[in-house]
Amino acid sequence: MVIDVNEIPREGLHIDQDFDFASLDLVEEEAVLLEPTHAVVEVRKAGSEVLVKGKITTRLSFICSRCLRPFEYAVDSIFDLVYLPEELDEVKEELEEEDLERFFYYHQQLDLREIILEQLNLSFPLRPLCSEDCEGICPVCGELINQGRCSCQVQESDPRLEKLKSFLRDKK
Ligand SMILES: [Zn+2]
Ligand SMILES: [Zn+2]
Repeated sequence: MVIDVNEIPREGLHIDQDFDFASLDLVEEEAVLLEPTHAVVEVRKAGSEVLVKGKITTRLSFICSRCLRPFEYAVDSIFDLVYLPEELDEVKEELEEEDLERFFYYHQQLDLREIILEQLNLSFPLRPLCSEDCEGICPVCGELINQGRCSCQVQESDPRLEKLKSFLRDKK
């Protein structure tokens, strides 16, 4: 969905729409989209700047980085962006120090689909976790610790772990 900057009306554009993305478009390799991404966006012009403000919601399946099991993750993310005309791209470096939330538009066009996809990718957690206190997989028996399937009661004093610990200590 490409917006012609010259055709943004004075009162702005109000977009309320679903976007279908392929899981391949996502930065998180193992993520799978469970539904289309719903976006509600206001696009306004302020001089040569274009203000893009909105909200995206969707649901995905991520793989927990600790226990490696899939879990459902809800995205509910707001954004407030400023796009500057391409001419200002030349002075980008000076601008970036002032404000990192500034982007550029080229040929008088804004690709809203691309913007939504970028914001979706930015909304992901750095390390997806099924729950904050997921303890992951036991390094000794390989079972899930939270579910009580691991019965290694004395993990702290497991000789293999102790060996690993002193190895890590020596490395410092
Ligand atoms: Zn987990
Ligand atoms: Zn165990």
